[in-house]
Amino acid sequence: MSSLKGRTVIITGASSGIGEETARLLASRSANIVIGARRVERLEALASKIQQDGGSVTVQRLDVTALEEMQEIIKLAQSRYGQVDAIVNNAGVMPLSPLEALKIEEWNRMIDVNIRGVLHGIAAGLPVMKEQGFGQFVNVASIGAYEVSPTATVYSATKYAVRAITDGLRQETAGQNIRATLISPGVTESELADSITHKETIDFMKEYRRIALPAAAIARSIAYAIEQPTDVDVNEVVIRPLV
Ligand code: NDP
Repeated sequence: MSSLKGRTVIITGASSGIGEETARLLASRSANIVIGARRVERLEALASKIQQDGGSVTVQRLDVTALEEMQEIIKLAQSRYGQVDAIVNNAGVMPLSPLEALKIEEWNRMIDVNIRGVLHGIAAGLPVMKEQGFGQFVNVASIGAYEVSPTATVYSATKYAVRAITDGLRQETAGQNIRATLISPGVTESELADSITHKETIDFMKEYRRIALPAAAIARSIAYAIEQPTDVDVNEVVIRPLV
């Protein structure tokens, strides 16, 4: 029997890409899934498919930049399923551009979603996990959390931050039965690059994305980290396409 059976997992950014595939996979392994994102119609379509296949899923509109919306989705998971076993802080945006293009609104959006969104997940989830005496944060970073490349300076900065936050969280929750996992994908098929507005970067990414991994490959690593026995804390997983 899968050790995901009956575990309750909240997934942010589940309306496409990695979050969507993670929801499908965890539901197929009998976890209770609570999915959030801003495009509710996409979540509803995903939920009907999961339910048709016999899975257990709850949908909630979620903007991770609003702390109270993270608190709401956690409350919903608790009231529906009684506990929160894991929160997958997956929502992210990546409007890449060179610094000199001065796309300041895009920098701020990356900081708001990629850093504040993860912090909101922790702020809303940590008190609940401490109270129930167990839990797990799975934070989705990137290979950009380990290396910077041109046009990805601000994006990488946000992912370095997610890596630092996850490591600090692991250290600060030692002895509390709370696990902290960092998942760092390389290029993966998704809608992530659609938010790029800088023309030359769009052209470059078209070429780069030819080697992309399927989002299901990242979903498998997230499932792996969650389904371990609860005394096993998978700290970091880095996944790149084989080239
Ligand atoms: P997608 O663009 O396909 O998915 C991103 C998800 O984030 C969407 O569901 C989107 O939903 C959600 N999202 C964006 N802004 C918000 C917000 N304010 N509140 C709630 N949800 C939000 O891309 P991926 O699946 O690739 O991205 C998932 C994660 O993986 C991101 O953190 C990304 O940085 C990371 N990653 C991706 C890589 C890749 O090559 N694809 C490589 C490395 C890391 P909605 O718009 O409906 O709110």
